[in-house]
Amino acid sequence: MVKSKKTPLANHKELKKAIKSLNKGKSADIYGITVEHLIYAGEKLEQLLLRLINLVFKHGCIPDILKKGLLTPVFKNKGDRCHAANYRGITVLPVVYKIVKAIIRDRIQPRVLQDQNPTPRGFTAKSSTLNTALVMEEVYRENVDSNQEFELVLLDVKSAFDVVPLRYKIYKEGNQEICNACSQKEETVEHLLIECKAWDNIRRPVINDIESLLTNHSNIEWESLSEGIQIQILMDITMVQRQLRLNSEEVSKIEHQARRLIFLIHSARCKLLLQP
Ligand SMILES: [Zn+2]
Repeated sequence: MVKSKKTPLANHKELKKAIKSLNKGKSADIYGITVEHLIYAGEKLEQLLLRLINLVFKHGCIPDILKKGLLTPVFKNKGDRCHAANYRGITVLPVVYKIVKAIIRDRIQPRVLQDQNPTPRGFTAKSSTLNTALVMEEVYRENVDSNQEFELVLLDVKSAFDVVPLRYKIYKEGNQEICNACSQKEETVEHLLIECKAWDNIRRPVINDIESLLTNHSNIEWESLSEGIQIQILMDITMVQRQLRLNSEEVSKIEHQARRLIFLIHSARCKLLLQP
């Protein structure tokens, strides 16, 4: 779209909206600029920025200076640290480039959404993975009720959590930071899975099963494990398999229980949120 020289010029309102839409609290780009700089700089800078962006639109060309990114390798938390393949590259793009992108996105998104396949839930405005969870649960229940075999395939669900497993909100669309179930604490993965008292009755039996699998082999009591290890067992036990001296059969049994727990808590939470 930028390459077409017929791109209509941006106006001040579009620029303001684009700046507002960027996430705050992010790392500075390669020039040391963050979105906060633009937010607090004021009117004068906005005028200059608008001229700059409109030159991009007018000439149909993004200057090379806006294409420079800051690449950081982030360990995927599995495998050998010496293998480059076990790192994911995260590139921080220049803030000004993101503004150009946001203006174009805001222009084309209403049209794109009309044609977009309705199935993917991530990266889609006003949509959430929660909707999918609801459908999934319905199908699951229906099959259980009618005694039908049910197979659920989750693609790469581990990878979604491998970078920062702790201390981040699970559901971006959650209407508040605080856990809806107990109203006590921030809703993080660890809170939901091991801490939240509201899910104790769901969690307890599954943890008992996991504990008996652990005890069978090496006398490990769940409560004696650190929170970090507990979460690791639930999210991806392969990381601590050796440390806990578990064989692959035990690992797969525990993995099954861990998935069950995640599913049960997730569905219970989903139901709670959907209550009128
Ligand atoms: Zn809670």
